[in-house]
Amino acid sequence: MSTGCAKHYLRSLGPLPPPSLRRAHDVRYLVLCAQCGSPTDSRHAVPLDGQHYHGRCFIARFGLRALQALPRAACAGLQLADIGLPAARALLRSHAARRNP
Ligand SMILES: [Zn+2]
Repeated sequence: MSTGCAKHYLRSLGPLPPPSLRRAHDVRYLVLCAQCGSPTDSRHAVPLDGQHYHGRCFIARFGLRALQALPRAACAGLQLADIGLPAARALLRSHAARRNP
């Protein structure tokens, strides 16, 4: 898979999806992204070492391969609007390859 130049790819993505605050209870899931400092929903973020990252911020900091190397459960909440279609495809392929070697 190729997303081309990672910086160009990440810049080409639309705006970050805002955290869902449909219910008052949802504020309990708000966390700050360790890379960009914007609020995000911990259910849709990538947890690593006690910190949370937007999917695209994780890719910007550690690279797509590091995201692919994470356990499936860590990436389960990622949104397509966050990481974009090519990265989501690559992630799904890597998870499928690990399940069916
Ligand atoms: Zn971020």
